Amino acid sequence: MASQSLIVLFEDTPKNLQRIRNGILKFLSTSDVILIDFLELFNSDNQTKYKTGLSFDVVEGILENNAIGIVEMVIVDVDLSQYKEFSINEPVISNICDKLGIPICVYSTQVDESEIERIKNWSEKSIILNRNQDITVLSKHCVAIYRGFKKIREEFGKFTAKKFQGPIELLAKVMDAPNSAEAQMALYETGYFSVFSKSVVESEARNRTFPILLGYWLFNSLLRFPGVLLNDIATASYLNIDLEEFRRNKKVREIFDDAMYDGPFSDITSFWWKDRLDERIATAEVEKNMSDVQALLKSEGIRQVPPARCIEGEHDGAGFYCIITKEAVCEKHSVGNISWIPAGAVISRIKKSKWDELGPWFGF
Ligand SMILES: [Zn+2]
Repeated sequence: MASQSLIVLFEDTPKNLQRIRNGILKFLSTSDVILIDFLELFNSDNQTKYKTGLSFDVVEGILENNAIGIVEMVIVDVDLSQYKEFSINEPVISNICDKLGIPICVYSTQVDESEIERIKNWSEKSIILNRNQDITVLSKHCVAIYRGFKKIREEFGKFTAKKFQGPIELLAKVMDAPNSAEAQMALYETGYFSVFSKSVVESEARNRTFPILLGYWLFNSLLRFPGVLLNDIATASYLNIDLEEFRRNKKVREIFDDAMYDGPFSDITSFWWKDRLDERIATAEVEKNMSDVQALLKSEGIRQVPPARCIEGEHDGAGFYCIITKEAVCEKHSVGNISWIPAGAVISRIKKSKWDELGPWFGF
């Protein structure tokens, strides 16, 4: 069997196929992995075998075993209605990938409208990308996701079943999480791994399926809901530093460099470990009339950093993050303890006006 790694792309419009392929290739080193259009893969395989068209079994067969390489990831356009020769759709491909233990990214132009539903159903077994964003960004994310899953799989392979305790402990090791973060990570779990008994994990399927599920969980839950890991908006809000200042003031950023996350998917955007930020803040000397962060900044020679702003009350000071609008917000002007937000996501809330607007529609 071929050992070349493959990323398989399902895109039914030739123009889009060309654009996405070129975009992704800019971020891939070709010796690493081959990006191939599914029809190309299909045609390069034994055609007579498949001349009846694309049934579930045929697609599964090609993804599972083909003459070119091992399929490491699938990227699929959510709308495949323009495929001329075949009728195949995204849910079918997703099912096949789930069955075979192949990570799948789905891109869609409808992401904005479905964002809230998607956030609510965060345990989905795929990664959804927004097709409306710049093609370079979309391509960069596809490659970062491929590398993230690859890293999880590789690291996972180093742990033996004997040493295995549970999914959280395992992922914490893969992510190089601070010990203190593990308990909080467990509060994101909410039954996601309950199907994985120890016997399943120790079985052969574990090697293929389990790292993929860990990847989905990391991407769709831990990284999406700030609590254990914070994106730059949540970090600036938590530190009570103006977002633009935090983004562009290198001296400020450097103070918190050691708190940055460097694990799977970290090349999508920057994240910081909340616990490591706390550790850093705790090194500050207590100063009168100053927060610990201000005292820390002062001790590093930085004065007068503007504070974070609560978007809802338009006042200084925030501390939290609205997961719908992705803005800094304060506790008073936001709603927390929402059933579908993981309990560990202590910085994640929904700003008051958004909550009032959406509540009746989404049964909040
Ligand atoms: Zn406020």
